[in-house]
Amino acid sequence: MKKSTLTNLIVLLMCCLSTQLKGQESWIDTSIHSGLIELKTDYTFKILVSNDSIKTTTETLNNLNKAKLYFDKIFQTDLNFVVLFIENREWSKYAYFPPPGLPQAGKGNIILGLDKSIISMEVEKMISQLPEQYLTSLKTVYGENIDLDLFYRETLSIHELAHLYHFKEGTKPQRKWLQELFATLSMYSFIKEKLNSSYPLMNTYPEFVIQSGDRMVEFKTLNDFEEKYVQKLTPQNYEWFQMQLYQNAKSILDSNKTDILIKLREFLINTDLSKTKVLTDSELSTRLEKEVGKEIADILTNWKYK
Ligand SMILES: [Zn+2]
Repeated sequence: MKKSTLTNLIVLLMCCLSTQLKGQESWIDTSIHSGLIELKTDYTFKILVSNDSIKTTTETLNNLNKAKLYFDKIFQTDLNFVVLFIENREWSKYAYFPPPGLPQAGKGNIILGLDKSIISMEVEKMISQLPEQYLTSLKTVYGENIDLDLFYRETLSIHELAHLYHFKEGTKPQRKWLQELFATLSMYSFIKEKLNSSYPLMNTYPEFVIQSGDRMVEFKTLNDFEEKYVQKLTPQNYEWFQMQLYQNAKSILDSNKTDILIKLREFLINTDLSKTKVLTDSELSTRLEKEVGKEIADILTNWKYK
């Protein structure tokens, strides 16, 4: 090979590499990174913290890494993302929306709390007033003091990571509940298959919430969820919807293979509202049944509140 050809080849190769890197980086919103400290680890994803003297991140990062390997394999990709750990008092400076400490994801970032989340504190306070007999299962799993960050941070961080595998390809789903179902199905599948020791952390608090019924919940239809979503529902009401979806995800995956995750992700991408028109409920149901599975269409058909 002539020297000039070799040089051309090298230049071409470097161009390719740099556009690839740029392509990967460009999906990550770095505008919220400035002022944060980078944690040096062996993980392939970047980690930024608002305070590097708080050491509560090891277990969470280890689980996120396992989840990344699992999701990368299922969805046949190598997702690039950044994990941010933010203290409650700095939350509004870095996170996309409140409440402080509750995991969220968007534009290539997963934002997690560095100290106890506000929502855990509030729920822990509320349930501490309940008679002892209702607390047995929670104490067995989350400890005598019932540390709900073991649910809100450790479990939900996996749900947030799963969102990114969809957000990377499109962010205008036909329905918000489908987008949430996808993240919850993915989380459930990973924890059940690869992190089974954490299964009780994922499952016990939702069971507790579901058993407490829905007397306190004002909005219950899937349309309510679409119209109000995070911002216009009380945290309790939003959580009620998420728990219903969790219950559905659980029964779907306990009797299905992970194919359904792949099909649902493809469906979300193929029907993204930036490319397709809004489907009516009946069109959506028909297509879900055909392209993903009857179990998913059944959620729409069988939703208890119309
Ligand atoms: Zn979500």
